[in-house]
Amino acid sequence: MSERTLAIIKPDAVRKNAIGDIIARYDKAGLKPVAIRMMQFSKATAEGFYAVHKARPFFDSLCTFMVSGPVVVLVLQGDNAIKKNRELMGATDPAKAEAGTIRKVHGANIEFNAVHGSDSPETAKFEIGYFFAEMDVVG
Ligand code: ADP
Ligand code: MG
Repeated sequence: MSERTLAIIKPDAVRKNAIGDIIARYDKAGLKPVAIRMMQFSKATAEGFYAVHKARPFFDSLCTFMVSGPVVVLVLQGDNAIKKNRELMGATDPAKAEAGTIRKVHGANIEFNAVHGSDSPETAKFEIGYFFAEMDVVG
């Protein structure tokens, strides 16, 4: 079933010039970009996006990281896009991620882990709507 997911190339990956490599991995996996936006998060943007993690001890640090430089926000479309992208990303902690996954290749630690990906249809809907209007998405 074709579906959409939200991906973010985080500030650490943008800083190390990995945008092209990461988008090539989406392409090769059949995750087709249908919207792309480069932006600098404000604190409020980061806090709203990660509101579900508000009570976690790492929340403030995570939001500080996410505003530390520009990010690339993408909507990816394809068969089982949500699960497929989570597999392509690898585990949250790059040390535990499978070989060849984006986080294994580009992540430094459990916080600076290169990419975000929606984890369910409900979060994908919220996250896509957080950054894009329907008219911003092609296909
Ligand atoms: P994922 O991004 O794999 O869905 P979570 O939703 O649990 O992981 O966490 C959101 C983000 O918060 C992670 O991608 C990572 O950047 C950061 N994070 C998660 N767990 C920790 C932790 N224990 N310490 C610091 N940062 C963390
Ligand atoms: Mg998550």
